[in-house]
Amino acid sequence: MWQDLEPVGRAGSGGYRRFAWSREDHTLREWFAGECARRGLDLVEDRMGNQWAWWGDPDAAPGQGIAIGSHLDSVPDGGAYDGPLGVVSALAVVDQLRAAGIEPSRPLAVVNFVDEEGARFGVACAGSRVITGAMSPERALSLTDADGTTMADALTAAGRDPSQIGRDDETLRRVGSFVELHVEQGRGLVDLGVPVAVASDIWPHGRWRFDFPGEANHAGTTRLEDRRDAMLGYADLVLGARKEAQQRGCVATVGKVAVTPGGVNAIPSHVTGWLDSRGPDEEAVRAAIADLTTRAADFGASVTEESWTATTHFDQPLSDRLRGVLSSDAELSVPVLGTGAGHDAGILASAGVPSAMLFVRNPTGVSHSPEEFAERDDCHAGVDALTACVTDLVSP
Ligand SMILES: [Zn+2]
Repeated sequence: MWQDLEPVGRAGSGGYRRFAWSREDHTLREWFAGECARRGLDLVEDRMGNQWAWWGDPDAAPGQGIAIGSHLDSVPDGGAYDGPLGVVSALAVVDQLRAAGIEPSRPLAVVNFVDEEGARFGVACAGSRVITGAMSPERALSLTDADGTTMADALTAAGRDPSQIGRDDETLRRVGSFVELHVEQGRGLVDLGVPVAVASDIWPHGRWRFDFPGEANHAGTTRLEDRRDAMLGYADLVLGARKEAQQRGCVATVGKVAVTPGGVNAIPSHVTGWLDSRGPDEEAVRAAIADLTTRAADFGASVTEESWTATTHFDQPLSDRLRGVLSSDAELSVPVLGTGAGHDAGILASAGVPSAMLFVRNPTGVSHSPEEFAERDDCHAGVDALTACVTDLVSP
């Protein structure tokens, strides 16, 4: 399966560019459909185009289905494992169950969520947000990519009917539990020296837009004391965010900036900086943002909260059960790790679908970059762990 996926959307950097509803995305969806057909699974798409491949009739036992999987899209120049590891592992689990002669006593689905990274339209987990009602279809359809293409247009271009998207309770009703396996996006498992962990929760996280006003003028003839340089407030934001995050045990990133007019010899008349901040508790993140807002006000800035997601707790009984299953294998000590990254499993958990996650060690600790990696043995350990969990969940 990795050989099939390896060339799809490969960029010159060695990373991947697999954006929602693009040609590459289409290729990946077709590949997924083919793998599911090869295994005799019944593929159904929900109202947003997330692909659910069922083993067993999901409507024969409503609310009893077990879903496993992840996503196949990527960030710009993303790694090979973020998303695909979960999908490939889920398909491998089906193979392992078949090889072991296990016939699930309840329906089992392999799922490929669409548009998890939000790389094209700016909202992460768009596929799961729409079907759970966390994002309205109106908002989703009006999102635009960098070329000005709306999601509605992109869906139409992909041969889909935009008017069909929306909350999909019928699909969610089928899912009793969702387990997403994912490459770890930090160094937790590297430091612990073990291949697999169970997730505890997802840190609260948000995005804020800071708009700093200024006045365009000549970079040579305008005296320093006469300037209103929008870049100074932005510079203060970048350094302040780092300091606040450090003091409060959070993380903060200003990874995107827009400068007007954007000339080397022109004093910036307007600078917009986008801040992403996350932390182990909501109060810490909120306090950091409050202080940064006060600092920015000294530069006349306005601050807009573009998104906020509270702490996501995965389902405790399900997580405990997975940990119990994995801990019974004495070879494997299974830690519980929190994460600063968002996932479809988090969106489903927030919507009341019992959800849990497994993380697989990433020796570089790097993600959203071509440096992201997972050793073959660790990938196998992940598949074995997920197989053990699913075997337990689908047992009578
Ligand atoms: Zn991911």
